[in-house]
Amino acid sequence: MTKWVYMFSEGDATMRNLLGGKGCNLAEMTKLGLPVPQGFTVTTEACTQYYEDGKKINDEILAQIMDSVTKMEEIAGKKFGDNENPLLVSVRSGARASMPGMMDTILNLGLNEDVVSVIAEKSGNPRWAWDCYRRFIQMYSDVVMEVGKKYFEELIDKMKEDKGVTEDTDLSAEDLKELSAQFKAEYKNKLGEEFPTDAKEQLLGAIQAVFRSWDNPRANVYRRDNDIPYSWGTAVNVQMMAFGNMGDTSGTGVAFTRDPATGENKLMGEFLINAQGEDVVAGVRTPQPISELEKIMPEVYKEFVDITEKLENHYRDMQDMEFTIEDKKLYMLQTRNGKRTAKAALKIACDLVDEGMIKEEKAVEMIDPRNLDTLLHPQFDPKAIKEAKELGRGLAASPGAASGKVVFTAADAKAWDAKGEKVVLVRLETSPEDIEGMKAAQGILTVRGGMTSHAAVVARGMGTCCVSGLSEIKMDEANKKFTLGDTVFNEGDAISLDGSTGAVYPGAIATIPAEISGDFGRIMGWADQFRVLKVRTNADTPEDAKRARELGAEGIGLCRTEHMFFEGDRIDAFREMICSDTVEEREAALEKILPVQQGDFEKLYEALEGNPVTIRFLDPPLHEFVPTEEADIKKLADAQGKTVEQIKEIIEGLHEFNPMMGHRGCRLTVTYPEIAKMQTRAIIRAAINVKKNTNLEVKPEIMIPLVGEVKEFKFVKDIVIATAEEEINNAGVKLDYEVGTMIEIPRACLTADAIAKEADFFCFGTNDLTQMTYGFSRDDAGKFLDSYYDAKIFEYDPFAKLDQVGVGSLMKMALDKGRPVNDALHFGICGEHGGDPSSVEFCHEIGLDYVSASPFRVPIARLAAAQAAINNREGK
Ligand code: PEP
Ligand code: MG
Repeated sequence: MTKWVYMFSEGDATMRNLLGGKGCNLAEMTKLGLPVPQGFTVTTEACTQYYEDGKKINDEILAQIMDSVTKMEEIAGKKFGDNENPLLVSVRSGARASMPGMMDTILNLGLNEDVVSVIAEKSGNPRWAWDCYRRFIQMYSDVVMEVGKKYFEELIDKMKEDKGVTEDTDLSAEDLKELSAQFKAEYKNKLGEEFPTDAKEQLLGAIQAVFRSWDNPRANVYRRDNDIPYSWGTAVNVQMMAFGNMGDTSGTGVAFTRDPATGENKLMGEFLINAQGEDVVAGVRTPQPISELEKIMPEVYKEFVDITEKLENHYRDMQDMEFTIEDKKLYMLQTRNGKRTAKAALKIACDLVDEGMIKEEKAVEMIDPRNLDTLLHPQFDPKAIKEAKELGRGLAASPGAASGKVVFTAADAKAWDAKGEKVVLVRLETSPEDIEGMKAAQGILTVRGGMTSHAAVVARGMGTCCVSGLSEIKMDEANKKFTLGDTVFNEGDAISLDGSTGAVYPGAIATIPAEISGDFGRIMGWADQFRVLKVRTNADTPEDAKRARELGAEGIGLCRTEHMFFEGDRIDAFREMICSDTVEEREAALEKILPVQQGDFEKLYEALEGNPVTIRFLDPPLHEFVPTEEADIKKLADAQGKTVEQIKEIIEGLHEFNPMMGHRGCRLTVTYPEIAKMQTRAIIRAAINVKKNTNLEVKPEIMIPLVGEVKEFKFVKDIVIATAEEEINNAGVKLDYEVGTMIEIPRACLTADAIAKEADFFCFGTNDLTQMTYGFSRDDAGKFLDSYYDAKIFEYDPFAKLDQVGVGSLMKMALDKGRPVNDALHFGICGEHGGDPSSVEFCHEIGLDYVSASPFRVPIARLAAAQAAINNREGK
């Protein structure tokens, strides 16, 4: 028979998966002999079973719960629901990873009118007894029955007003008794039934509420943001009450062994006398700093400090603890590794190493790679953001916080920026034409587009905050305004974006700048010693490449050459190339482009200081670059010696029904080989020059996109080799180069053995591979992803986090087929997944040589790669 319930004395800290974080630590503290009110944990597996049974607690689990109640009664020498000697308990959720979005706590469970009268009399403290009861009704109604807190709080406020007092603690036993009656009436009014009086019925209601809370919308969003699988479930902890509200010799509080904001090694915390836990959290009364406890109850304080030290030494990490003092007796209600800012996380990890508490390896494991974002980008001032009202949420496309005035065109963004205004660029979607406006903006907000949309990819590259795909926006570009919820934004109105959560706020919210300390460098240095995967970057400009180098990139894994044409008047020559209708015209335009590309490549090679540089041939559908404004069309027509109508006809001809599956990638070279020739010349000439002018070793890696058939690859490769050899011979130098392919079409995986015979490397383009494996558009998935989350079809966005089951299988297949055919073949990934920690771990496991991530995600990838190596070491 499965064991669904464990007494605290039966578990320990190793049983986190089964008992949840709270449960396993209560068991561990029990084992350490600390003063823990005893109780039991209903396992996470019971939660999963509850859902499998159609949201019901089955008889076997029920029997084990009741059995454990009996055991707890024996330990306490009290009985549940008893009129003589009643046992009261708390019920609290506790998943494997702490989840603030879930139901938390119900206190004082087991009370009814009769029981309250008994404890009021027995304790000689009726005020306490009625205080417990009114709290219980309030919490049970809110948490179990989901009535909300508001009505109860209004009743308390009214009572305080009637009695002419300001503090809850000033209300008398009679007042609280009266409040309890009012609460119960409110309960009946809202739910049409009496408040439950039977303790066991209350307990089951509470346990089910915890299980139910695993599936509430907040929990689902939190899980998605924090990579927590739905299948984990939550445990439930049922624990004897310790009462902090018994008078002035009682109290409750929370404390951290180190400062969770800065990491400083000093006990931090606060407490309230004569209170229960929720008073500290709710902020109805102002707590006192923990150091004050020394003055009020010196022995208790000393005992508490001893315990905090013992716990930190035991767990070898900063602890976040909850405690209650019941009539001068201290009880520990919880301990866990405390949540902390990224800055504190780095400091604590380094300090613990210096204090000899942990090894470097452990320090590397302790840092959540996703948190590093907050060090590298500005964040909202925590105080200011608390007061802000969120209007809606799009995709968290590029992290950081931004405030500025709304503008609707890239040209306006540039012009306002030149006047010294901070702006946020709001667009239906961005296109290559918008690049300079995007650069000028503090943040970018788009109505359409997913995690791999143009806006998202480019913003991440630049390190600019971006929220994409906020489809609730009603856009009125013509009148330069949009509506989100009830709020109308006109041009010039202030707006704030959080690119780390996707949230959008009205008004300007203060931000604090990014701050990198020396601890960051130490942790990264340690991470580099452990990792096996190399980390490259996706960078298209020398500036991005330099930044990525500073952040530790060991090469360029993807340079999207088309992105090099976004700036200044470069686009003009590019458009001439696209809108040519003879080979001669196209070659003439390409002649203008060649020196520009060559110059950029030279700067890229120099920025990379001899590290590998992978340059990808032109890839996107050409229509993305054609002019849309009348003036630009006219300019192009004049440059080409054509009429406006002729240009419009050419543009019309470039229209495609499915551009993402249309005339793009290597297909462009098959139709226009002259483009590949020009790009090869630029790549090779630049390499020859840099080699000549510096001492750097340069070995370009030329990458052919969107290959699905080996003959396509061979066709392009032959052009590359012929052109490159000609250049090298003309220059009379020696230069090595490689020709490899992106693997981003399922057919490339299926036929990888054939392609491997021809290619020098495979680089997985998991943006397209995901798109084509699922068969849905990477730019439109945002429209239905929410419905997929609601229906539990998806738990995360497969364009952000790799689908290891499907796309991952195709990757493995490509490796398995490619490796035996070509020993020298090397492997990387350059889709957006290259900067996502769980995807990086997968890449490590399947044995890729490198991951390539946008510059600001390079540190995340370095750390994730180190953690993957540590986690996958033999014996782990
Ligand atoms: C990819 O498809 O994963 C990729 C890196 O290329 P792009 O995003 O430019 O299509
Ligand atoms: Mg691609």
